[in-house]
Amino acid sequence: MIDFNHPPYTGKEFEYMKKAVDNHKICGDGEFTKKCEQFMCDRFGYAASYLATSGTDALELAALLCDIKPGDEVILPSYTFCSTADAFVLRGAKLVFVDIRPDTMNIDETKIEDAITDKTKVIAVVHYAGVACEMDTIMDIARRHHLIVVEDAAQAFGSTYKGRYLGGIGDFGCFSFHETKNFSMGEGGAIVLPNLDNRDRCEIYREKGTDRSRFFRGQVDKYTWQDYGSSYLPSDLNAAYLWAQLEVYSEIYNDRMQTWNSYNEAFRPLADRGLVEQPVIPAECGHNAHMYYLKLKDLETRTRFIHYLHEHGVCAVFHYIPLHNSPAGRKFGRFSGEDVYTTKESERLVRLPLYYGLTDEQREHVIETVNDFFR
Ligand SMILES: *Cc1c(COP(=O)(O)O)cnc(C)c1O
Repeated sequence: MIDFNHPPYTGKEFEYMKKAVDNHKICGDGEFTKKCEQFMCDRFGYAASYLATSGTDALELAALLCDIKPGDEVILPSYTFCSTADAFVLRGAKLVFVDIRPDTMNIDETKIEDAITDKTKVIAVVHYAGVACEMDTIMDIARRHHLIVVEDAAQAFGSTYKGRYLGGIGDFGCFSFHETKNFSMGEGGAIVLPNLDNRDRCEIYREKGTDRSRFFRGQVDKYTWQDYGSSYLPSDLNAAYLWAQLEVYSEIYNDRMQTWNSYNEAFRPLADRGLVEQPVIPAECGHNAHMYYLKLKDLETRTRFIHYLHEHGVCAVFHYIPLHNSPAGRKFGRFSGEDVYTTKESERLVRLPLYYGLTDEQREHVIETVNDFFR
């Protein structure tokens, strides 16, 4: 069976985890945490970056930084993972779901303005499959209406929009290093900031409400409880696991991209015959090969397709059930405008195996099996 995913593993992970143990520093903010954070700032140009215990927690931290009050409204796509919504719901926000674009599966920027009310505080965008939302338009809307933009860039580590790295375009960017993402520490994530305006607040909320980070930088001579907060620091053992991958960032990136490109080339004839639709990457977007998906004719075809692939040793999966139709989505939110694409497109989408280390033979088997289904 060709699995859908293998967590990334390069071989150096245990050595670095042992080093963390030898350092007598396995809690948060140790050597490897700092290395990972520095990597993100250096490579992607963020003003500050902080590892977090998960992508979900990074989003929670962003929601705290947005200072959400009960009744505030947050605009987001319905086609996303529930964590995008959870973070804001926990702070008492009302969700306002907006339809997606059928080409990228991202929030339809042309439908955002209609969803804005005098309660709107945040636009939370999701860069689905590591392909950027139409950020110029979204940032323009946000500035004109004085709204905060949170980028759920959980899938978009290393992706760009007009040459700028995602996560650093809005006010707060959130990444995930879950084992299903391109780079992983088991459970983990990061929040990044485009400038230092919110640095102190971010550090305080992340460190149980204390100014411990300022203390470690020598800016205050003792640290105290400043505000509310929680503990979003991952163990340095997890950061050590992640560092083994960030160190060979390009190798992992290229390996995934090769599989993505092979799939994309192989399935073009099927697309030309109108049997499948392939992912669309707008010219201004540099994607990170997070996901390879196909869209089939309808739900019934997708069900048969997934079943056929399973029977022939290929694990393919689908997601997401649109949030606005889920029990929690109905409780906490409403859909703005009409659901033209969210449900329809989500029912047609299927994801193929894609992970660092997928062999050429495995890739060929996936391609052959997909082709066989349509024969
Ligand atoms: C993976 C993911 C998350 C959550 O990340 P965790 O690290 O699993 O908490 C949030 N949003 C999106 C879009 C994701 O893909």
